[in-house]
Amino acid sequence: MNDLGTYMAYDYDLLVIGAGSGGVRAARMSATYGAKVAIIEEFRVGGTCVIRGCVPKKLYVYASRFADQFDLAPSFGWQVDASFDWPTLVAAKEKEITRLEAAYTANLEKPGVEIIKERAVVTGPNSIKLLGSGRELTAERLLIATGSHPHIPDIPGAEFGITSNEAFDLPTLPKTILIEGGGYIAVEFATIFAGLGVDTTLIYRGERVLRGFDEDMRIGLEAGLTTRGVRLIYQTTVASLAKMGDAVHATFSDGVTAPFDAVMFATGRRANTRGLGLETAGVKLNEDGSVAVDAYSQSSAPSVYAVGDVTGRAQLTPVAIREGWYFAETVYNNKPLAVDHSIIPTAVFSEPEIGVVGLNEEEAATHGDIDVYVARFRPMQNTLSTKTERMVLKLITEKDEGKVLGVHILGPSAAEMIQLVGIAVGMGATKADFDRTIALHPSAAEELVTFKAPSYTYRDGKKTS
Ligand code: NDP
Repeated sequence: MNDLGTYMAYDYDLLVIGAGSGGVRAARMSATYGAKVAIIEEFRVGGTCVIRGCVPKKLYVYASRFADQFDLAPSFGWQVDASFDWPTLVAAKEKEITRLEAAYTANLEKPGVEIIKERAVVTGPNSIKLLGSGRELTAERLLIATGSHPHIPDIPGAEFGITSNEAFDLPTLPKTILIEGGGYIAVEFATIFAGLGVDTTLIYRGERVLRGFDEDMRIGLEAGLTTRGVRLIYQTTVASLAKMGDAVHATFSDGVTAPFDAVMFATGRRANTRGLGLETAGVKLNEDGSVAVDAYSQSSAPSVYAVGDVTGRAQLTPVAIREGWYFAETVYNNKPLAVDHSIIPTAVFSEPEIGVVGLNEEEAATHGDIDVYVARFRPMQNTLSTKTERMVLKLITEKDEGKVLGVHILGPSAAEMIQLVGIAVGMGATKADFDRTIALHPSAAEELVTFKAPSYTYRDGKKTS
């Protein structure tokens, strides 16, 4: 019904723009609840995560980790004569994401979602235009799920650099690569390329990679990357790029110039809202260009909703999926649900791997008196070798065996562990709850339930030993 109380005939109940993690889930669930839905996608069904993000990234991380396994193999009696073939990996990855794309497509089609492969722009609060065919479509509601794109610093010669969009499909594996950035993508790709034998340099404007993470995780990762041959250049940026023959010459902010086979920007991602016509629908944007939404993913235009990266809340696939699902529950299943963004377990698939849930030490110390428990040890798989790398598990609790505020893990299987610890932390578990749990031996995770005295504490914001 429109504002005048009369029925308007729309082509659809819901038009979703963007068939990535959030859009697909929202479309599928809304259709399941009886809505007439079309989803519009200009590239490939699956979005960044499936096509050129999480999924291929994890596959490439697996590929890169064989380097560590081959290093360890002799300590267990194995002799390995290994070599790596990049085109084989690229082709295998392509086969897998094509399979996933087909599965996503089938999952949309099953409940009756129409898939339209074109670029769309919004032309009003209830309408869009398809740029290829010129068709106009109307719907009672629009859902913006257009995701985000890699941000490239505005420097001379930026066009000679690549981003994670291109990195998975390079025609040949570069011999040398420069990666700019100190976030998730920079350290994950540094891990991948170094593991595959590429001479890898990471350049970051800050003092240490992964700003915002717990300091022990940052220090441990820095050591791990260095051990694996990654050259780290801090407090420096790429000032310009120039192409000379096959090489890309990077000039740094300190005036140094060096040639690389490839230069990759991993300098954050920005919401895909430019040129989308959202202003025609009266949709307000945040300062960073993302769509401003309320807890139910509704924008300032009542008929327009947005989920996923385009809202700038948390650029993570499971969050987008949850936002898409809760949108459908709220709007099409009469069950208003708001996503809780306060406790989000997250992992960095670097080497060593990092898993985090809750507050880091610095943040927790501002929340009252806390106890910090830290275990550092050589992972068991390394004990037969000369590898000295340490695993770190850190538990941060309110004082005197109180509520667990944060868990930080650096080392093998950190991501798998943190997913499960996240359940306990989300339930408000205390140190005493952890202690009651019987240890599983031998495992690294058992350290989390066998801590005796705190390693150190904070009282009135001050560290005490
Ligand atoms: P991040 O925000 O994690 O990191 C961006 C990095 O680029 C920061 O180190 C930042 O520095 C630096 N940077 C930003 N702008 C500039 C600039 N103009 N010049 C130089 N350096 C700059 O973004 P990513 O690109 O790594 O990843 C995007 C998002 O994707 C992540 O936030 C994450 O949510 C998601 N993601 C999640 C993964 C996972 O869950 N495992 C994996 C990959 C991505 P500074 O620290 O100083 O701001």
